[in-house]
Amino acid sequence: MMTPRPVIGGNWKMHHGPADTRRFFQQFTGLWKGRPPGTIVFFPPAVSLSVARECLHGRPDLRLGVQNIHWEERGAFTGEISAAMAREAGAEFALVGHSERRHIFGERDEQAARKVVAALRAGLIPLLCVGETLEERRAGRVDDVILRQLDAVLDSLPPDAGLLLAYEPVWAIGTGENATPGDAAAAHAALRRRLSARWGASRAQDVAILYGGSVKPDNARDLLAAPEVDGLLVGGASLDPTAFAAIAATEFA
Ligand code: PEP
Repeated sequence: MMTPRPVIGGNWKMHHGPADTRRFFQQFTGLWKGRPPGTIVFFPPAVSLSVARECLHGRPDLRLGVQNIHWEERGAFTGEISAAMAREAGAEFALVGHSERRHIFGERDEQAARKVVAALRAGLIPLLCVGETLEERRAGRVDDVILRQLDAVLDSLPPDAGLLLAYEPVWAIGTGENATPGDAAAAHAALRRRLSARWGASRAQDVAILYGGSVKPDNARDLLAAPEVDGLLVGGASLDPTAFAAIAATEFA
């Protein structure tokens, strides 16, 4: 099933434990009255998922995801959580291959592929993040890198799998430097072409492609208006209920 657009995600990273999560949602649910038919999804730290689910009881318009999962269902993997556990705690989505996982924790394409499969097996919708470093961009390798990251996952997907994508240039994440709408449109078009070549045009259109990287209330509108941009993945600005509500309310044609 297609996820309603625009898809606006808030990745809290390692912020907002259970008490701050309660405070956030008290404020956010007061501010946000809903705007069908888009999708708003929060990615709190895993320890805050249960509290978040409690806070969002009766608000089916506000959904939850997990920031990272292990690819196995259970076992001796100290510190890890499985997709099924995240689902039990309230997640419906799973971020996979976020650039901080790739660049700080050394996660490779092959692991991202296994995590996407694990998410689907547990009934989570995977949101695969791809993006190039500044060095790769300067070397003219944007498409090479993001298509390699995408292909690694497509190769192991079951034929009818649902998937969301986020184009998040590494140099734009948490730096205050966002890609221009033109940069985003070019990368998104390359991803869409590859999906089309692999899956056909109609199924490729079903995959929402989000842009992420220093999205703020004042640049959200231009980025969301760029061709092929179906949503936004927001890090820093999603921690503040007012800023995130302003981004989530951005006009989408
Ligand atoms: C992110 O973490 O996915 C992100 C895009 O972060 P920021 O908005 O802070 O750049």
